[in-house]
Amino acid sequence: MSHLQSLGYSRLHIFRKSWTAKQLRLRIYEIVRPLMYSMPDIGRTRKNIGNAERLQLEYKKIFLDSNGEYDFDNSLYDLEIHNNLPYDQGLMFNRITQCDFCGMEHKDNCQFAFQDTVTLDSILSLMKYDRELELTINWKAGARVNLKQFENPQFHKINLNAPTASGGKKQ
Ligand SMILES: [Zn+2]
Repeated sequence: MSHLQSLGYSRLHIFRKSWTAKQLRLRIYEIVRPLMYSMPDIGRTRKNIGNAERLQLEYKKIFLDSNGEYDFDNSLYDLEIHNNLPYDQGLMFNRITQCDFCGMEHKDNCQFAFQDTVTLDSILSLMKYDRELELTINWKAGARVNLKQFENPQFHKINLNAPTASGGKKQ
């Protein structure tokens, strides 16, 4: 049981093993993008670009530094690997298990700090203990996002008993 207040609703997102860290970061940005109050300015000359290209340009603006490297000091969020390591019960005191992603011993989450080209498959192969890979979005203080959409989602209500337009069910 969790003492944490449950936030919003679950959604299934599929991240393929063949994806690179970059593809994963792009997809996660695409998923949270509707929560942002304002979009990054990608320049006025870019009117007739497709969604995929727009996504890339916005991502670059927010998450890449001037050298084209992933910028951990970006203003939106940190992507973290949720720390679900088992505790080592065999010792006198509960010892923190060494994190198999970064090799350090730490209690909190691990930064998703992989190079762009590393595949999800090779990240999964780092895991010594059998468990799921869980990712967490840690919003930066002051990130301009509307988290109320998650707390109180506005669902569209439909009446399943209503007659359909195709005349399926008659009253
Ligand atoms: Zn770690």
